[in-house]
Amino acid sequence: MDAIIMDGKNLDSGAVSAVKCIANPIKLARLVMEKTKHMLLTDHGAHLFAQAMAIPEVPGEKLITERSRERWKKNLEPDSNPEEFQKDLGTVGAVAIDSEGNVACATSTGGLSNKLIGRVGDTACIGSGGYADNHFGATSTTGHGESIMKVVLARLILYHMEQGMSPEVAADTALDYMKTRVGGLGGVIVVNKAGEWAARFSTKQMSWATVEDDNLHYGIYAGEKHTKPVDEALATEREGL
Ligand code: ASP
Repeated sequence: MDAIIMDGKNLDSGAVSAVKCIANPIKLARLVMEKTKHMLLTDHGAHLFAQAMAIPEVPGEKLITERSRERWKKNLEPDSNPEEFQKDLGTVGAVAIDSEGNVACATSTGGLSNKLIGRVGDTACIGSGGYADNHFGATSTTGHGESIMKVVLARLILYHMEQGMSPEVAADTALDYMKTRVGGLGGVIVVNKAGEWAARFSTKQMSWATVEDDNLHYGIYAGEKHTKPVDEALATEREGL
């Protein structure tokens, strides 16, 4: 797994890549940010650091859902469609702004499938998998990592906001550039320093949700946006448990 975290107040950032058997890689990325003078630890070194920080190892089996296992098996079938397999993978991202205007972002992913051993994707790379700067806002990205890295997608969106674009226009402009320039698809969540936000994607779908003024907004497909009070959403969640 790869993960990144960034604090927009001072541009501090921490990341890990190629970690296994860690339940919360973003927490480990945060420790890299807070407890070391480095920004990105990978593979064996990241594991040694996790041990030194007393982060418990979780057996790999526990981190694999039945759904993922089934999907992986399907992917091995001779007539499988690799694009179908990549759809809806488990990248999780977050952006936030507090009442004092501090922004932050975090992204965590198992990464693309069918990759070479040693491949590091966009998520752990500052400016690609995420970027946060109180002067402009914060963004977290998902999608085809090699394309995201080519256009440095997260920082590109902040650059567009610096030029005066809204989060929505900045996100669409950057995603469009990535699609036309390098043929890559992706999705982003963005918040600017005024607290305006956007969830935009050039992929077929991206699950997203936002809490603003005690309301939960959420959707999956293009143009889809539902809204309900946070209290109601939490009550429904509790009933489901
Ligand atoms: N960006 C990730 C990667 O290329 C995959 C994803 O976001 O789903 O590893």
